[in-house]
Amino acid sequence: MEIKVKAYAKINLMLDIIYRRTDGYHDLFMIMQSIGIYDTVTVTATKSKKITITCNIDDIPLDEHNIAYKAAAAFFDSTKIKNKGVNIDIVKRIPHAAGMAGGSADGAGVLVALNELTGAGLSDDELCAIGVKIGADVPFCIKGGTLLAQGIGDVLNKVKPLKKCYIVIAKPDCSVNTASAYKQFDECGKVHTPDKLGMLYAMQGRDLKEICSKMENVFEQFIAVENKVEIKDIMRANAALGVCMSGSGPTVFGIFDNKDSAEKCALELKPLAKDIAVTSPVSKGCRIVK
Ligand code: ATP
Repeated sequence: MEIKVKAYAKINLMLDIIYRRTDGYHDLFMIMQSIGIYDTVTVTATKSKKITITCNIDDIPLDEHNIAYKAAAAFFDSTKIKNKGVNIDIVKRIPHAAGMAGGSADGAGVLVALNELTGAGLSDDELCAIGVKIGADVPFCIKGGTLLAQGIGDVLNKVKPLKKCYIVIAKPDCSVNTASAYKQFDECGKVHTPDKLGMLYAMQGRDLKEICSKMENVFEQFIAVENKVEIKDIMRANAALGVCMSGSGPTVFGIFDNKDSAEKCALELKPLAKDIAVTSPVSKGCRIVK
């Protein structure tokens, strides 16, 4: 028996770091949005008594370092269900180490799939409680849609969904180490604080232009990303309503209300970015494929 799940990527419409807690984690304020780029996670019952992983690309780990493996181990540990053997197959489409929660999405997909496969019947909140032990973005990736994430990213509250729009994703050919990005925040602090209240009002009114004008990511104040300025210039020249970096980068995204402009922009970005896509918001973090 197997369960197939679409595990969606995210972008951050806003990311503010409030402060560094005494336990070393950071308290955050993030408006997160699931988008239509997804990995397909298929969990199959085997008789190996082990967790095994297969993947279509070879630059992510296939052992216990994979977030999908950690999620499966945490699921069996928390539910006390005996693992008779599962294989996790990941078809990766979400660019990794991109600030789009690719690994967390796979972890979320595994939890949702195992819940179905084993008939454990856990609620989303119960799955989130397991997921947060693996990574701060996993609870968002389980619930998904448009959410305000606070705490370390695990305190989730609904905000109104984004109106239909087109999102151009551009990941330059470089990577950012998330841990060192936070270290830079600890050392440098921030020079500007995003207008969080203004963003919440804009989200409440579902005013796309206003939302786009409020988009801000504090990591951009101290993370240098190759070609970012040029990518943003091209997005703006193609009538993007707003442009911003996602997570700790390096992915830059632009939001458009016109599909043709978004597609033209994506073509023009080709010389500047390794992974480019035109997508739209989705209302779920994970979707079981029937
Ligand atoms: P976030 O937005 O949550 O910071 P990210 O998009 O920056 O995430 P990931 O794609 O989650 O980063 O990958 C981060 C690291 O985790 C990579 O170096 C990768 O080797 C490792 N990793 C472990 N498991 C996975 C997985 N299933 N998919 C992608 N990367 C994984």
